[in-house]
Amino acid sequence: MIEPVITAGNLKVFIDPGHGGSDSGAVFEGIQEKNLNLQVAQKLANALSQKGFQTKLSRENDSYISIDDRVRMANAFFEGTAPSNTFFISIHFNSNQANYCPITSQSIAFYKLSNQTSQDFSTTITNAMASSQIASNYATRSENQSQSSSFGVLYVNTDNKTLIEVEFLCNPSLKTQIQGPEWQEKAANAISEGILAFAQQKTTPASSSGFKTAYATVFDGSKNTAGNCNNSCVALPDSTALNRTVEVCNLDGSKCRKTTVGDTGPWCTQNNAYVFGNERPFAEINKNKNLNAIANNPSCPLRGLSNGAGIDLTQNIASALGITGDPDTDRVKWKFA
Ligand SMILES: [Zn+2]
Repeated sequence: MIEPVITAGNLKVFIDPGHGGSDSGAVFEGIQEKNLNLQVAQKLANALSQKGFQTKLSRENDSYISIDDRVRMANAFFEGTAPSNTFFISIHFNSNQANYCPITSQSIAFYKLSNQTSQDFSTTITNAMASSQIASNYATRSENQSQSSSFGVLYVNTDNKTLIEVEFLCNPSLKTQIQGPEWQEKAANAISEGILAFAQQKTTPASSSGFKTAYATVFDGSKNTAGNCNNSCVALPDSTALNRTVEVCNLDGSKCRKTTVGDTGPWCTQNNAYVFGNERPFAEINKNKNLNAIANNPSCPLRGLSNGAGIDLTQNIASALGITGDPDTDRVKWKFA
């Protein structure tokens, strides 16, 4: 039994196992998507309960429920709770048209169109799935980039919402794996870690006072620096931030340092929308992707496989904040001083 890490007990996650009853969802060689969705959803509910979340499923068995009813059930469950403390996740397995399946392994999180919070939530969950190596590839997409133009369940009354295609079920090489309780448990645990990480990020107190959060790595500040680093500075991925003063802190704000921006990076050189705007870091949105391969990518020209980091720290700054610089787990918050 894992100790609950959230004690407030006021965080609600509505889990929607896609399809059900007469609606099988995708079918491949006798595997019906609706069954996999329910199995993973039940394991996710269990993992979240152990972390202290309140959970509810749209269906506990193989029954048909309309999209509108799923939305109504979730809204009723969220009633009386602050929207920031409510989370919605619809569980699916992916398939292409009949008789065609790409030879691929991929987890995809779809977010509500034009909803930045939904996008951030989806990104956090795919990052957590990538950390646990659930699939070979990961993507976060707007719902309008899917073949169906819109996902009705994403009309639910919370911004913390996503629809996950956990894997492709039509890939013969994955067929055995995705039906196994061990893999399903691993996937459910990873998704629960993502929800927890997002919940903790949302409750970071200083986020309201101009701080941005980002995954952090450690870099060598003794060379290759564009500014005056002297082994003690940070790098931010927009060259116009060079030589400015920043305050960088651990997430709970108990350890902070003021320092200068002594280099440009990680990954990007013109990621203005993150450094000076409200977007997540380009490298974080495109974590585990080869940035060279992304078309129309002026913010990160000619870079490699992103590890998701949005700030680099010299070793002394990382040590002062008590982090090692693991891009999968270490986050800091920072703002211009
Ligand atoms: Zn589906």
